[in-house]
Amino acid sequence: MTLQQIKSFAAGQWVDCDNAARDIRSAVTGEVIARAGNGALDVEAMLDHARTVGGPALRAMTFHQRAKMLKALATHLGNHKQQLYDISFATGATQKDHLIDIDGGIGTMFVFASKGRREMPDAQVYLDGEVEQLSRNGTFLGQHICTPLQGVAVHINAFNFPVWGMLEKLAPTLLAGVPAIVKPATASCYVAELAVKIMLDSGILPAGALQLVSGGLGDMLDRLTNQDVVSFTGSAETALKLRSAPHILSNSIRFIAEQDSLNASILGPDAVPDTPEFDLFVKEVTREMTTKAGQKCTAIRRIFAPQAQVSAVIEALQANLAKTTIGDPKDARTRMGALVSASQKTDVLAKAALIGQEAERVFGDPDNFDVHGASADKGAFVPPMLFHCSTPDAAQHVHEVEAFGPVSTVMPYKDLDHAVRLVNRGQGSLVASVITHDSDVARQVALGAGAFHGRLYFNDRDSMQESTGHGSPLPHMVHGGPGRAGGGEEMGGVRGVMHYMQRTAIQGSPDILTAIGGKWVPGATEISHHDHPFTRTFHDLQIGETFNTASRQISSDDIAHFAEFTGDTFYAHMDDAAAKRNPFFPGRVAHGYLLLSFAAGLFVKPDEGPVLANTGLDHLRFMKPVEVGDSIKVRLSVKHKTPRNDDYGEVRWHVTLTNQDDDMVAEYELLTMNAYGSR
Ligand code: NAP
Repeated sequence: MTLQQIKSFAAGQWVDCDNAARDIRSAVTGEVIARAGNGALDVEAMLDHARTVGGPALRAMTFHQRAKMLKALATHLGNHKQQLYDISFATGATQKDHLIDIDGGIGTMFVFASKGRREMPDAQVYLDGEVEQLSRNGTFLGQHICTPLQGVAVHINAFNFPVWGMLEKLAPTLLAGVPAIVKPATASCYVAELAVKIMLDSGILPAGALQLVSGGLGDMLDRLTNQDVVSFTGSAETALKLRSAPHILSNSIRFIAEQDSLNASILGPDAVPDTPEFDLFVKEVTREMTTKAGQKCTAIRRIFAPQAQVSAVIEALQANLAKTTIGDPKDARTRMGALVSASQKTDVLAKAALIGQEAERVFGDPDNFDVHGASADKGAFVPPMLFHCSTPDAAQHVHEVEAFGPVSTVMPYKDLDHAVRLVNRGQGSLVASVITHDSDVARQVALGAGAFHGRLYFNDRDSMQESTGHGSPLPHMVHGGPGRAGGGEEMGGVRGVMHYMQRTAIQGSPDILTAIGGKWVPGATEISHHDHPFTRTFHDLQIGETFNTASRQISSDDIAHFAEFTGDTFYAHMDDAAAKRNPFFPGRVAHGYLLLSFAAGLFVKPDEGPVLANTGLDHLRFMKPVEVGDSIKVRLSVKHKTPRNDDYGEVRWHVTLTNQDDDMVAEYELLTMNAYGSR
């Protein structure tokens, strides 16, 4: 077997490993399969390349352009994923594990590509929240904006998910417009190296957007500035060492930490044997213990069951775990492969022994278990190990020691308050799950344990077919947890992008805010155009372009007709005396929807043209009632434009209805799809 030399990609060049390189062994055979590391890597040149080449190129793009780039990258990775599967078996992972790592990573990138297009503007500035009214007359306003950091994101990843772990950080970083230097864990860096190679070879990324360090980082972290971010996944010990470095602290360098976690699952008091929830619980726990040989940051380490159900839970888990065939991950019959390395095996066994001081092992003997298709001595194999701790209040290790392998402990609880107290003894975790069909149980746990967990996962007979599993962080939802789990937060959709951007409070006039944010703010200059706005294409329309309609008087017949036609005969529109008794109305008033319909009649141009459809209406408010004899007129201003596909884009119009005294009657945002036309 040829020894693979794992390279780094630094300042646009692939760099070989040198004498400082470390050996990497196959998890399955124990043989040295690769070497990685270069003690002379020019880390300053890498930082400089990212800051001066990658950053400017990414920042020149809009969020939509970056989102399209992510989509192309994810598609390209998907086309080459077989190569990644092939190489990943040596990490001890099975084909099923590859789906989580490789397909899961690519799927995460697709979600960010889609969210970038749908939830972010086709612009370089992201607006965070609404305009704040800071003055009586609206001439001085506030708006929070986010712009990309002008440095580099250094991603330090754990060994367990070399592809997902990289892509879940890379996607929000690139979408933000920030270049990344990725440092995978050495034990599985050959998989990450291949994924990086596939991405770079695609030619989709601008130069400097992605670099790779295989092996040690050297003194890179001591060279970071306040515009850089460190995003770390790994052990609590390494996180503490890195985040407490004086250089990181004195420069307030952002440090996102995802570290180890004593995740828990609670069997609800209602989920007794023979309910769908009991079976579901056993299935979820078994899966969490054995997937990826338990090397999942979100795996269930602590299992809480009502005192009366503990024996039944142990029996059911024993029966399930007995079906776990362990061995060669390439063999389709294998349910659980190996740990990543011999040192991981030593670590897991030592930690299981600590747990064994407080709990009885009720399944799995590390000195006696079957391994098929591989050598139990040479590979880093361990059996699933289930413990039972009957005194969880007095125990320490079971709540504190993370054995990063297929190790979990069953514990009894007396009542739900007790379960919540025990779950919270993990001192902050990534996820806790509750299998219950009782909404009150779910609510009680959410209130009692929410503050201690980054994610709470509830599952029952209603959601079990479509639920994604206790252990799956989803790109839409935040991943991270307080305290012991690192205090960091990743993903969560656009929230994850914000970790790589700076939020800035902008204060100024409506024109200034409009110019910076690319969104028309009420009070800003209105641009008039001699053509009707419905004759103007997406590209023709300018932000702030405004159309004022003629006015229309509301008659008693209009209201009666609308009431009869729609069936909306609410008394305030029909009965003057009854309307007067209502604190909101001076007497009989027009329907709000009648006003909206009349407004459309006032501003619509009926002929076929660039406006293709009215797709919605946001933030509608009726401010002042309209009585018989009042008249209304409409002002329509282009607030924002968002391209949607190759043919048309969404125009968001700010619409106000005013009466004969210029008092505001209604305000809303109207959405239309407009054909692009020529630029
Ligand atoms: P680790 O030993 O802490 O290593 C994590 C990363 O830090 C690796 O890339 C490692 O590189 C690097 N590293 C170590 N010392 C460093 C230093 N002085 N300077 C710069 N980088 C350094 O953790 P691990 O064994 O890979 O991962 C297992 C742990 O990760 C478990 O505790 C697990 O719970 C946690 N984890 C958490 C999450 C999460 O999202 N919260 C996800 C997965 C795993 P080398 O490999 O080259 O040493």
